[in-house]
Amino acid sequence: GGNSGSQPWDYIAKIVSIGDSAAGKTSLTIRLCEGRFQTDHNVTIGVEFGSRTIEVASNPPKRIKLQIWDTAGQETFRAITKSYFRGATGALLVYDITRRNTFISCISWLHELRQSGEPHMSIILVGNKSDLAAQRQVSTAEAQAWADSQGLHAFVETSAKTGEEVEKAFVSVATEIYENI
Ligand code: GDP
Ligand code: MG
Repeated sequence: GGNSGSQPWDYIAKIVSIGDSAAGKTSLTIRLCEGRFQTDHNVTIGVEFGSRTIEVASNPPKRIKLQIWDTAGQETFRAITKSYFRGATGALLVYDITRRNTFISCISWLHELRQSGEPHMSIILVGNKSDLAAQRQVSTAEAQAWADSQGLHAFVETSAKTGEEVEKAFVSVATEIYENI
């Protein structure tokens, strides 16, 4: 583990965030790591990082430092290189609940992840923008059923805008990773 800085940790884990452009991947990372929401859609070039230490409810509790990698404007399958996935033990597969096509794309994203990612990755399906439920195009039941059918480890609906369930999504991935150590 590491004990430098304000957040000591027992384990460190690389998490990749994938999904269609504008699903809210960057916003989720910023919400978790910096506790704020930015309204402009900044398509940055290259890979961006955020990190946050999450406590997993084991006995004794363990602190997992999540290093979250963000695709940053390379949201086409071919543009993402193998190095993006290398060493990642967890993944957030993100779609926007108000745009059905972003949910349908998850089929291809998951395929890509299973081809290029590490074996035994903990994959969490995240339906983002739950604050816009009035414009919903994907039901919770449908997404849950698909996540179950694909053997994904969890399904969470989040809002990077309000912060709702964001912590829960990352805690589920951290817990799953810890259980696989
Ligand atoms: P990315 O391309 O997947 O990284 O998506 P971004 O994080 O850049 O977000 C795309 C757009 O959706 C931006 O305008 C965000 O402000 C907005 N956005 C992201 N998350 C949410 C959310 O939970 N609710 C709402 N209402 N807007 C969001
Ligand atoms: Mg982004």
